[in-house]
Amino acid sequence: MMTEGLRSSAVYEERRREAGPVKGFPRVLRQQRNGKRIPEDSSCFPFCEYDKRYQRWYPRDYWRSGMIEFRKLIQSSTYLNPLEAFEPREGKVEIRWDPLTSLTARVVHFPTRRPGRPDLTQAISSSVASKCPFCHENLDLMTARLDKALFGCERLTRGDVTVIPNLISFDKYSLVAIISKEHYLTIQGLAEKGSMVRGVEALLDAFSCIREKDGDARFFSINCNYMPASGGSLVHPHVQGIAGEWPTNYQRIMIEKSSEFFRAHESTFWDALMEKERTLSERLIDGEGRIFWFAPFAPKGNIDVAWLFSTSSLFSVAAEEWAEFNLGLAKVLSYLDDEHIAGFNLSLFSSEEGEAYFRANGRIVARRFLPPTNAADVNYLEKIHMEHVCLVPPEEVARQLKERW
Ligand SMILES: [Zn+2]
Repeated sequence: MMTEGLRSSAVYEERRREAGPVKGFPRVLRQQRNGKRIPEDSSCFPFCEYDKRYQRWYPRDYWRSGMIEFRKLIQSSTYLNPLEAFEPREGKVEIRWDPLTSLTARVVHFPTRRPGRPDLTQAISSSVASKCPFCHENLDLMTARLDKALFGCERLTRGDVTVIPNLISFDKYSLVAIISKEHYLTIQGLAEKGSMVRGVEALLDAFSCIREKDGDARFFSINCNYMPASGGSLVHPHVQGIAGEWPTNYQRIMIEKSSEFFRAHESTFWDALMEKERTLSERLIDGEGRIFWFAPFAPKGNIDVAWLFSTSSLFSVAAEEWAEFNLGLAKVLSYLDDEHIAGFNLSLFSSEEGEAYFRANGRIVARRFLPPTNAADVNYLEKIHMEHVCLVPPEEVARQLKERW
């Protein structure tokens, strides 16, 4: 079993020696800006920080890196392989613990080939034949209209984007942003037009109306199912926003664990994660700009790319940051297109305004059909066991994406 960052006294002493002498035990002051405790004696800062839980001073580097644990182990057994004249072969799976949620994911060691480009002809033609409600000529009569008392209008329009209520309510508020006049856009088309980000911004405008009138709706997310492989029932490009009083499971666990981490360490998990990923440089894609791009240690699928915004809430992301996000997302989409994926799921998460323990963040996960029967790539593990499986290690995803960044 590989573990990192455990606070053993031997490791502490080694790091402590590297950091040099600590001058006394200065008083601790509350720093107003980010609520983080720092020593009053500036000669001590920035070399060390006080660990309240252990009531000891730790060198600053150790304090930060030691909080994030990338834990994994390999399980293996032998089978007689029919593809190699029944020679013994070691079957291996790597179990990884997510450093925030502790939920496990499995990286399967099995050789894979890039799939052929998916044939979407039938999905596109049948969606046109069945009269698409999101196409311009049908939109007015076939889609729902907003509650004017809440949104101030029945249709919220931002350029090419129209926001409407979802006919199926997945939360207290369930909205759809139609992000294209064209019925079908390739992944590359989505990348070039910047349609996704315009849809996200329009949904945030709609969410702002909800926030003004309904203080109980505190949990927001923006999501996308692209193409039938992802569970998307309509081909016409769109993103979905849900808002309500109760978070989804992953959203709840992420918020609870981030808050728990902040209380325990008086530091933000997401900042510590960024620093650790920067140091290791194994899954980092780009950490130079406002948006931090990386491939998560415990992936939620074959290609899982994540990003962190510079603010805790999506509502306070500045226009320049959205523009930067658009450029980064275009690179990721272009990569997914080259990998011939059949669809993707995307989610963006936000806290309420100003929580120091949180960072607005998101993930995009590729979807594919499995040969020879075009089977779904989600099985009993994901549906029942809450366990995600991937065949491409995140370190490989990060390496490939970095080359084209
Ligand atoms: Zn359409």
